[in-house]
Order: sequence, then C-alpha cells, then structure tokens
Amino acid sequence: MTSLVGSIRTRSLVARPTTIEQCREALDYCRQNGMSICARGAGRGYGDLALNDGNALLDMSAMNRILEFDEETAQITVEAGIRLIDIYQAVHHHLLVLPASPTESHSSVAGAICANVNGKDAWHHGSFARQVVRLRLLLANGEILDIDRSHELFNAVVGGIGLLGVILDATLQLHPIPSPYVEINRIPTADVDALLETMARVEKSHDAAVVWVDAYADGSRIGRSVIHAAQWIERPETESERRQILEAGYERLDRHRQFGLALHEKFGPILSLMLQVQRPMMNYFNRLYYAMCRLAYRTGRSSNSELFLRFGFEASFTVPPAHLVCGPHGYTVQLTFPRSSAREAIIELLGICQSSPCPPVTTILRAHKPDDSLISFSEDGYSLNFEFHPKERHEAASRAAVDRLIDATVRRGGKIHLAKDQVLTPEQFYRVFPRYRELLEFKRRLDPDGLFTSDLARRVGIDPALNKPQPEQ
Ligand SMILES: Cc1cc2nc3c(=O)[nH]c(=O)nc-3n(C[C@H](O)[C@H](O)[C@H](O)COP(=O)(O)OP(=O)(O)OC[C@H]3O[C@@H](n4cnc5c(N)ncnc54)[C@H](O)[C@@H]3O)c2cc1C
Repeated sequence: MTSLVGSIRTRSLVARPTTIEQCREALDYCRQNGMSICARGAGRGYGDLALNDGNALLDMSAMNRILEFDEETAQITVEAGIRLIDIYQAVHHHLLVLPASPTESHSSVAGAICANVNGKDAWHHGSFARQVVRLRLLLANGEILDIDRSHELFNAVVGGIGLLGVILDATLQLHPIPSPYVEINRIPTADVDALLETMARVEKSHDAAVVWVDAYADGSRIGRSVIHAAQWIERPETESERRQILEAGYERLDRHRQFGLALHEKFGPILSLMLQVQRPMMNYFNRLYYAMCRLAYRTGRSSNSELFLRFGFEASFTVPPAHLVCGPHGYTVQLTFPRSSAREAIIELLGICQSSPCPPVTTILRAHKPDDSLISFSEDGYSLNFEFHPKERHEAASRAAVDRLIDATVRRGGKIHLAKDQVLTPEQFYRVFPRYRELLEFKRRLDPDGLFTSDLARRVGIDPALNKPQPEQ
C-alpha cells in the first residue's frame, strides 16, 4: 500500500468482505493471529490514517449498496463502502444533495464519517458529522451497536478515525435544492483585509465557496486571493430532462477523471522537473492567474452557471494528484484557526510558508463551523490547506516550516485535519485534541486489546496497546 501523497509505503494483509459475517471472520482471524486491523474505505485520505503496516486492512469498498431511500424524509441508508458520487447518482435528480461532501467524490461514506470531512458548504452545513442520522458499528467482540445522534458514542465514532469499530452502514440526511445548477462568482481580493471582508459577505449571500490563495504574495499584498463562490439557482427543466443532463454530467466527470489521471501520470515527471524552479514558476503562475481573474471581474465575465457536480467535484482531478503535486518528499496539511484571530493567523501562516525554501504549491482557504465530535477539526473559523513539494535538499528545512505552521496553529487554538496529516507528533496531537482522552476511555472499554488501529493512531499515540503514559493537561 502507498499513501496518496506517495511518501509512505506499507505492507498489509487485506480482507475485502462483502457481508457482515465476513467482517466478523476477518476480525476473528486477526485476533487469533495476534494482528491488529484497520478498516479502509476508498483509501482517499492523504496520509496514514487508513494504513496499518505489518498488520491487516479491512477493505470495505465492496460493501457499497444503497439499502433504503426515503424521498419524503430525504434520508438514505447505505452500506459503509459506497462512494459519495454513487449517492449523488441515486438522489441528485430528485433535487437532493449530500452536504459536506469533500472535493474527492470517490471518498466512501464511512471514510467521510471517520475523518469527519468538510465540503465547500462547511460554514452552512458543518462537517460530515452533521449529516449522519444513525450508523451501525461492529465492535471488536463481534457485537453490533445501533448508534443514533443521542448515543454516548456518536461523537466518538464520528471523526474517530475508525478506532472503535467497523462502520457497517449509515443513514444520512440529504438536503433539498432548487435545481442541480449553481451560479459561480469568481471574486478577486487584493489582500487579507479584502479577503476577510468579502468572505463575510459571501458567507451570507452564497451557499458554497472555496478560495484560491496566492501564498507567494507578500508585504501589503499578503492574503491576495480569488474567491470561487456558488449559489443554487432555479432552472425550468422537467425531471426527465434533468435526469438526462445529470447522466451526461456523470459521464463527463468520469471521462475527465480518467483523462486527468492519465494525463497527469504521463506528464508528472515534467511537473516534478518544473517544480525544481518552484519559487519563480509558482510566483509567475499565481500572478498571471490573479491578473486574469481580476480582468474577468472588471469586464463582467467572472460569473457563469454550471452543474454543481462540476463545481463540487471536478477540481479533484483537473489538478494533478497529490503524489505528483507533493512529490516523493512532500506532504499536505490543513489547519483551522478561529474567526476572531483570522487576520493575524493568515498573515502568520503565509509568512511561515514564504520563509520556507519551498513554499506551498497550492493554498486553499475555506470557512467552517464547529461540531461536537471528540476529535473535531472544525471550528467557528477558517482553514488553510497547503500542498508542499520540497526538494530533497530542502527536506529538513521544509519539514521545520510545517512544524512551525502546526505550532502556530496550536498556539492560536486551531486544529489539524487528520485526513491530510502525516507529520503530527503525539505532543502536538494531545494539545490539538485534548478530548482524545474521552475517545481513549471508550476505546479501553470497547477494544481493550487494541484490535482496531492504524499507522496514524500509533504515530500520534492513541493506541491503548502501546500502553503509553498519557501526559497530564
Ligand atoms: C483530491 C482530494 C480532495 C479531497 N478533498 C477533501 C475535502 O474537500 N474535504 C475533506 O475534508 N477531505 C478531502 N479529502 C480527503 C478525503 O475526502 C478524506 O480523507 C476521506 O476520509 C476519504 O475517504 P475514504 O473512503 O477514502 O477513507 P479512507 O482513507 O479509506 O479512510 C479514512 C478513515 O476512515 C476509516 N474508515 C474507513 N472505512 C471505515 C469503516 N467502514 N469503519 C470504520 N472506519 C473506517 C479509516 O480507518 C480511516 O481512519 C480529499 C482527498 C483527495 C484525494
């Protein structure tokens, strides 16, 4: 197995169950053979949260059926391994969406629950936790628990990176929309103040937004950005027309995904070569992109309507995949920080990036709202997502810059997204997620032998099998 970023390689025994009974058999096998096991969805997390070196993986991707869909209540019950795009394909023509869907539409439902992922609508709908009505969890002893939102385990399982058991299925709340189309406005903002002022307006007027940030703009231009904001719109299509349009939309997404991945694989080495001159190249590219967006904005050509499918999901394969963007020594990191100190946080985090020998290749900002999961990434604030492609000779200096980013975030009361992490240390983890103790308590009760674990859990020290003394707060 290789992590998505490509810099972590592991070997595991893989079971691919199609029934609950086969899941139980896999757990029994691991217990009898002294192995731990890690459930895995689509493997679209960037780091090591779905890896389990030298032990077993439970690949849930073949448990991918829709079990029930109730159009009236707008609720859908699905098996754990179904991909988010498959849910869209089943419900979108009924004018429903699944809020909090990440850009990676091939993520599985259980993967989205366990990493508590977020979408471009995060400040409206929160993270994935908020869409979950109930789920069923297979415990280490083979028992199945039905967990609804009032259950004491709900906030431990959601966002709990698969450490308490195997999610078998889940009921999700869908959200009504007027049509499958959104109007997109691309709004350039010249600096951090303009960015935050415009975002405050966009958060009131729009339904979803994602911000491209020029991490190379410094001085008075620091925080220079382009906000891509979307609003649902009415369209007059009949249901059968809508079905046809959406079918063509899925085909197009699929075609572009295949084409994008093939193209990037072919030209990946050229991209790597170009990134050897990363600083001037990215600086030039960012200036050009910003200037083009500003020109389009000034000449009234910065808005258009398009299928939400495209706005929501296409970016995940029109940009090169993580292992190419980040290269053999790279990493991603997504950091949240509170709204109250957003200006200072953005300036500090971008300043750290600029002082690194290899600043990030991509930088994306999103708005969020808090939730109650024990290991929660979301809060009332914003996040910055960086992708770094350090050159070999700058590996140590780049890593030091990432550590400074994390330390600055922790100092500001911010959080780190575990689905995009591969560097957090136990000390950093304990500070970011003080409620991990509650998760560990549940784990000691439900899985005292540490049957369920992962490389990430071992790395950050939340594995009871390690019997590690936990620091006092
Ligand atoms: C191009 C791209 C874009 C992305 N965009 C976003 C984004 O916009 N927002 C965002 O938040 N994330 C984003 N991500 C990250 C991705 O959506 C998450 O990492 C998501 O968790 C991946 O789902 P998965 O099914 O691949 O999970 P995996 O990576 O397979 O697993 C994730 C976690 O879930 C656990 N797990 C999986 N299935 C089960 C199960 N049945 N029972 C118990 N535990 C289970 C695993 O042990 C692991 O801890 C993006 C990733 C990519 C590659």
